[in-house]
Amino acid sequence: MRTAGVRGVIVYCSDYQCSHSIALIADRWGDDLRLSDIEPRFLCTVCGKRGADVRPNFNWSITGPIGGMGYRLA
Ligand SMILES: [Zn+2]
Repeated sequence: MRTAGVRGVIVYCSDYQCSHSIALIADRWGDDLRLSDIEPRFLCTVCGKRGADVRPNFNWSITGPIGGMGYRLA
């Protein structure tokens, strides 16, 4: 992850009508991995659309590390 200090990302569904989003821990990804490289790998669990908009989660410390596959932000 290029953005220093960011341990998590928020993944948004690429379909704005769906707007599903989840927060993920980025620790498992290498420092040289770009967000644009992983965006096409996501598959929305709500609408099934492939592709996502991945942003650094600067508020990670608020929610804290969540175990498992992710955390749905409502
Ligand atoms: Zn979706």
